[in-house]
Amino acid sequence: MKCAKLVEGEIKIIETEVPKLTSKGAIIKVIGCGLCGSDLVKIKHAKLNPDTEVVLGHEVVGEIVQIDSQCDFKVGDIVALGHHYPCFECEYCKNESYSMCRTFKRSNIYPAGFCEYIRVDENHLKYTVYKMNKDLTYDEMAFLEPLSCCIRAVRRAGFKYGEDNSKYSSLVIGLGSIGYLMTKALSAFKVSAYGFDLMPERARLANFNLNKKYDCVFLTAGSSRAIESALKYVIDGGKIIVFSSVENDLKGFNNNDIYYRELSVIASYSPAPCDIKLSADFLNSKKINVEGLSKYYPLDNLALAVDDSFNNKTYKAYIKI
Ligand SMILES: [Zn+2]
Ligand SMILES: [Zn+2]
Repeated sequence: MKCAKLVEGEIKIIETEVPKLTSKGAIIKVIGCGLCGSDLVKIKHAKLNPDTEVVLGHEVVGEIVQIDSQCDFKVGDIVALGHHYPCFECEYCKNESYSMCRTFKRSNIYPAGFCEYIRVDENHLKYTVYKMNKDLTYDEMAFLEPLSCCIRAVRRAGFKYGEDNSKYSSLVIGLGSIGYLMTKALSAFKVSAYGFDLMPERARLANFNLNKKYDCVFLTAGSSRAIESALKYVIDGGKIIVFSSVENDLKGFNNNDIYYRELSVIASYSPAPCDIKLSADFLNSKKINVEGLSKYYPLDNLALAVDDSFNNKTYKAYIKI
């Protein structure tokens, strides 16, 4: 089968064996896979450190072609999925810090999303795989994992789904596809959502009030300028939610700003099973609509999709396998 691999920092489409089912789980024929900002970070990093082993692609939508499982799936099901699951037993899990669980960090799909077939294990089927509504297009289904990341961030900010959070205002800095999804997730949690981006065509995607301060600021754009804006627009005593890495860590948060203004800086990294479940509900019910956000690229053009994404020529790349 075809599979994308980073060879000495360059993307190559290589021939490799179709994964086999060695224990309970399923083989999924990949229909498509979204290109995530974290894939771009990994590619950039691999160019500097060519020897690192990198798994590319995780926003998978596909069809189950073989299954040995106690879960309620069958051959022919169209599913989307998250790639990590926690153990639910360790100290991290007991703290609801699921993405720090060591099982979570070790677990993954095999071999990677930008391949013709992947293997998932029984715990994936149990906790992170969802049947998707046939009314959705495949690229819309592939938003399951990225939307669940946003849901996790909204929950990390302290908001509960189903409560009225409308007295709280939030500002999302960076309105790329993930920032845009964040505004949608915030609205679904009934938080007043505003957004800001340096690119005028993206700035148009959300309201922004220059004269306002916000209870929570979500940083979806990894840059030190975004951190400056977060400090400028958050209220005293407010929260900053860190949702992306930055290239240069040295220009980070100002200790005294955080101290004298009693700011909370909270990070949100990767979704828990409950976030993936809510994401599936939002997408399948069209409570959150992600229609028309993606641009299609064939697997052979993955390198072009990566270049276009780096150069902001595409909003969200979806790789058709
Ligand atoms: Zn992702
Ligand atoms: Zn755990």
